Amino acid sequence: MVETPLLEAVDLYRFFHVGDSETRALRGVSLRVFPGETVALLGPSGSGKSTLLACLAGLDEPDGGHVLLAGERLTRRPEAERARRRAAAIGILLQSGNLFESLPLAAAIRLQMHLAGQRDAARPERLLAAVGLAGRENAKPAHLSGGERARAGLAVALAAEPALLLADEPTGEVDAETERALLALLAERKRAGLAALIATHSAALAQWADRVLTIADGRFADA
Ligand code: ADP
Ligand code: MG
Repeated sequence: MVETPLLEAVDLYRFFHVGDSETRALRGVSLRVFPGETVALLGPSGSGKSTLLACLAGLDEPDGGHVLLAGERLTRRPEAERARRRAAAIGILLQSGNLFESLPLAAAIRLQMHLAGQRDAARPERLLAAVGLAGRENAKPAHLSGGERARAGLAVALAAEPALLLADEPTGEVDAETERALLALLAERKRAGLAALIATHSAALAQWADRVLTIADGRFADA
C-alpha cells in the first residue's frame, strides 16, 4: 500500500505583475510531505519560499498547478472551505503578523482551537509552558520581547495540534537561545507525530530536518 502524502504540490506556478514587470515567483514546483516528516526549505531571499508556503497553506492561489491536503484538493476551492481545511490540519507560522496585538496569548490559542472545532480548557496553559511562557496567559504581544513573540507565535501555530506545521523562517530574527528553545519544542512535537515544512536559513534547523529542499528562482534545484 502506498501512503497518502499529508501535503502534495503538483506543478505550482505563481506570477506577480507590477506595472509592466512580471516576477515568476514559482515555476513548476512539485513536492510531497508525508505524515510525521520534517522538511527544511532552503533558498536565497527572493527565491519563492514565502510564495510557496502561502500557496501550500491555501492563503494564496497558484496561477497553475494545485495543492492536495491529505489527498483532497485545496486549490481553487471557496475561501471558506480552504479556511476550514487549513484550520483543521495546518499550523501556520508566518514571518510576521502571527499575533493580534490586543489579544492575550491564551485567547489567541483558544481562537485558533475554536477555528478547528476544538475545545480543551487546559491546553493554553500547557502550550505556553511548553514554549517557556508559563504563567503568561494574560500577556499581550506588545509586552513581549522579540524572542517571546517568536515562541508565542509557535504556540498559536500549534494550538489546534495540527498534523502539519508550515513555518516561514521561524528562527529568522531570534537569538541563539530562542532558536534552541524553538528547535527543542519542534523536536518534541515531531516525536508526537507532527510533520513540518520550514523555510529557513538556519543550519541547525536544516540539519535537524529529515530532508532538505532547495529552491532557487522559483524552482527546486533538482527539477
Ligand atoms: P522568499 O520568501 O524566498 O524571500 P518570496 O516568495 O517572498 O521569496 O518572493 C519571490 C519573488 O516574488 C520575489 O521576487 C518577490 O519580490 C516576488 N513577490 C512576492 N510576493 C509578491 C507580491 N505580492 N507582489 C509582487 N511580487 C511579489
Ligand atoms: Mg520569505
